[in-house]
Amino acid sequence: MNKLKELYKAISNENLAKAIQEIQEYDNTGLYGETVKNYARISGDFTDGITSTDFNLAQNMLLKEAAYRWMPEQYTVKLDSRGRKLCSCGSEPKDHEVRNFDAVWRDGDVYCIPCGGYVRGFDAG
Ligand SMILES: [Zn+2]
Repeated sequence: MNKLKELYKAISNENLAKAIQEIQEYDNTGLYGETVKNYARISGDFTDGITSTDFNLAQNMLLKEAAYRWMPEQYTVKLDSRGRKLCSCGSEPKDHEVRNFDAVWRDGDVYCIPCGGYVRGFDAG
Protein backbone atom coordinates (compact mmCIF):
# COMPACT_ATOMS: atom_id res chain seq x y z
CA MET A 1 0.00 0.00 0.00
CA ASN A 2 1.43 3.40 -0.83
CA LYS A 3 1.84 6.13 1.77
CA LEU A 4 -1.08 8.21 0.56
CA LYS A 5 -3.45 5.26 0.74
CA GLU A 6 -2.17 4.51 4.23
CA LEU A 7 -2.90 8.08 5.26
CA TYR A 8 -6.56 7.79 4.31
CA LYS A 9 -7.06 4.23 5.52
CA ALA A 10 -5.66 5.24 8.93
CA ILE A 11 -8.36 7.88 9.52
CA SER A 12 -11.00 6.57 11.91
CA ASN A 13 -14.65 6.59 10.83
CA GLU A 14 -15.35 9.25 13.44
CA ASN A 15 -12.55 11.53 12.22
CA LEU A 16 -13.47 10.96 8.60
CA ALA A 17 -17.02 12.06 9.34
CA LYS A 18 -15.66 15.17 11.11
CA ALA A 19 -13.36 15.98 8.19
CA ILE A 20 -16.22 15.69 5.71
CA GLN A 21 -18.30 18.01 7.87
CA GLU A 22 -15.44 20.51 7.93
CA ILE A 23 -15.19 20.38 4.13
CA GLN A 24 -18.90 21.15 3.94
CA GLU A 25 -18.43 24.05 6.33
CA TYR A 26 -15.32 25.37 4.52
CA ASP A 27 -13.36 24.93 7.73
CA ASN A 28 -9.63 24.39 7.08
CA THR A 29 -8.55 24.64 10.71
CA GLY A 30 -9.37 21.16 11.98
CA LEU A 31 -8.96 17.59 10.81
CA TYR A 32 -9.49 18.52 7.20
CA GLY A 33 -6.68 21.07 7.29
CA GLU A 34 -4.49 18.53 9.09
CA THR A 35 -5.15 15.96 6.37
CA VAL A 36 -4.25 18.49 3.68
CA LYS A 37 -0.92 19.15 5.43
CA ASN A 38 -0.20 15.44 5.66
CA TYR A 39 -1.20 15.03 2.04
CA ALA A 40 1.16 17.82 0.94
CA ARG A 41 3.98 16.37 3.05
CA ILE A 42 3.58 12.83 1.71
CA SER A 43 3.12 13.88 -1.89
CA GLY A 44 6.43 15.75 -1.63
CA ASP A 45 5.19 19.23 -2.47
CA PHE A 46 5.54 20.67 0.99
CA THR A 47 8.53 22.85 0.07
CA ASP A 48 6.22 24.94 -2.10
CA GLY A 49 3.80 25.43 0.75
CA ILE A 50 0.26 24.13 0.64
CA THR A 51 -1.37 24.98 -2.65
CA SER A 52 -5.01 25.01 -3.70
CA THR A 53 -4.24 21.84 -5.64
CA ASP A 54 -3.26 20.14 -2.38
CA PHE A 55 -6.58 21.21 -0.89
CA ASN A 56 -8.52 19.95 -3.89
CA LEU A 57 -6.76 16.61 -4.11
CA ALA A 58 -6.85 15.97 -0.36
CA GLN A 59 -10.54 16.83 -0.33
CA ASN A 60 -11.27 14.52 -3.26
CA MET A 61 -9.50 11.67 -1.53
CA LEU A 62 -11.42 12.23 1.71
CA LEU A 63 -14.71 12.19 -0.18
CA LYS A 64 -13.67 9.08 -2.08
CA GLU A 65 -12.68 7.35 1.14
CA ALA A 66 -16.05 8.26 2.68
CA ALA A 67 -17.91 7.03 -0.41
CA TYR A 68 -15.94 3.80 -0.35
CA ARG A 69 -16.63 3.14 3.34
CA TRP A 70 -20.25 4.19 3.45
CA MET A 71 -21.60 3.53 0.01
CA PRO A 72 -24.66 1.39 0.68
CA GLU A 73 -24.20 -2.09 -0.68
CA GLN A 74 -27.16 -1.81 -3.02
CA TYR A 75 -25.31 0.92 -4.90
CA THR A 76 -23.48 -1.61 -7.00
CA VAL A 77 -22.88 -1.01 -10.66
CA LYS A 78 -22.82 -3.96 -12.97
CA LEU A 79 -22.52 -3.40 -16.67
CA ASP A 80 -23.84 -5.76 -19.29
CA SER A 81 -21.99 -6.44 -22.53
CA ARG A 82 -23.45 -3.29 -24.09
CA GLY A 83 -22.31 -1.13 -21.20
CA ARG A 84 -25.72 -0.39 -19.72
CA LYS A 85 -26.05 -0.20 -15.97
CA LEU A 86 -27.66 -3.21 -14.37
CA CYS A 87 -28.87 -3.69 -10.85
CA SER A 88 -26.98 -6.19 -8.70
CA CYS A 89 -30.09 -8.42 -8.91
CA GLY A 90 -29.62 -8.67 -12.67
CA SER A 91 -32.68 -6.69 -13.72
CA GLU A 92 -32.42 -4.43 -16.76
CA PRO A 93 -32.91 -0.67 -17.15
CA LYS A 94 -36.50 -1.23 -18.35
CA ASP A 95 -37.25 -2.43 -14.79
CA HIS A 96 -35.93 0.77 -13.24
CA GLU A 97 -37.49 4.10 -12.37
CA VAL A 98 -35.98 7.37 -11.16
CA ARG A 99 -36.85 8.51 -7.65
CA ASN A 100 -35.83 11.52 -5.57
CA PHE A 101 -35.19 13.52 -8.71
CA ASP A 102 -33.17 16.64 -7.97
CA ALA A 103 -34.08 19.48 -10.31
CA VAL A 104 -30.84 21.34 -9.59
CA TRP A 105 -28.47 18.46 -10.32
CA ARG A 106 -30.75 16.94 -12.97
CA ASP A 107 -30.15 13.67 -11.21
CA GLY A 108 -32.05 11.14 -9.17
CA ASP A 109 -31.81 7.71 -7.61
CA VAL A 110 -32.40 4.84 -9.98
CA TYR A 111 -34.81 2.52 -8.21
CA CYS A 112 -35.03 -1.13 -9.17
CA ILE A 113 -38.65 -2.30 -9.11
CA PRO A 114 -38.00 -6.08 -9.00
CA CYS A 115 -35.69 -6.07 -5.96
CA GLY A 116 -36.43 -2.72 -4.30
CA GLY A 117 -32.78 -1.66 -4.33
CA TYR A 118 -31.05 1.30 -5.90
CA VAL A 119 -28.71 1.20 -8.86
CA ARG A 120 -25.73 3.47 -8.46
CA GLY A 121 -26.07 6.13 -11.09
CA PHE A 122 -22.73 7.90 -10.81
CA ASP A 123 -19.09 7.01 -10.66
CA ALA A 124 -17.36 8.00 -7.44
CA GLY A 125 -14.22 6.14 -8.37
ZN1 LIG B 1 -32.57 -4.99 -8.62
